[in-house]
Amino acid sequence: METKELIEKVIRFHGHICSGLAIGVLAAKYVLEHGYNFSPNEEVVAVVENDDCSVDSLQVLLGTTFGKGNLIHQDYGKHNYYFYNRETKKGIKMSVKGGAPKDKKLSKHERIQQLLNSKAEDIFNIYEIEYNPPGLAQIEESIVCDICGEKTASSRIMSYNNSDMCIPCYKAQRKL
Ligand SMILES: [Zn+2]
Ligand SMILES: [Zn+2]
Repeated sequence: METKELIEKVIRFHGHICSGLAIGVLAAKYVLEHGYNFSPNEEVVAVVENDDCSVDSLQVLLGTTFGKGNLIHQDYGKHNYYFYNRETKKGIKMSVKGGAPKDKKLSKHERIQQLLNSKAEDIFNIYEIEYNPPGLAQIEESIVCDICGEKTASSRIMSYNNSDMCIPCYKAQRKL
């Protein structure tokens, strides 16, 4: 698919066009052209170190989604993207290049167009990395919180004062 079609598809999900979306489209396009396919299940997993607009492009174009658990957010505030292919056992890291002086004369629209016309190699440092993906998403049992009565994933249950409780109830009890 051409960049133009990809960005249009992503805008339908995201709601607007922006430079973050363009960065994500460039990353997804590169990955799709280098041995990765859209992931109906958990064939591909993306690990991202930011939660800005760019991540929506990955969700739409690669099928690495929050809901499926094959999109992992590490809250480091960095423009790094890691992709792992569980079928070919390969990994790729894409890191937005720093230091390029911004051309102040460009409008927001022009900057987006310039990004979309760029090659991924111009925008990212791209590395093959060791195949070391996070584990598959787990389906876990729910336990009913003794305080609020709401079902809560067992791994998030806190024990306090001889009760099993969800995190918000635990915080309320402890006045955290
Ligand atoms: Zn946006
Ligand atoms: Zn509760």
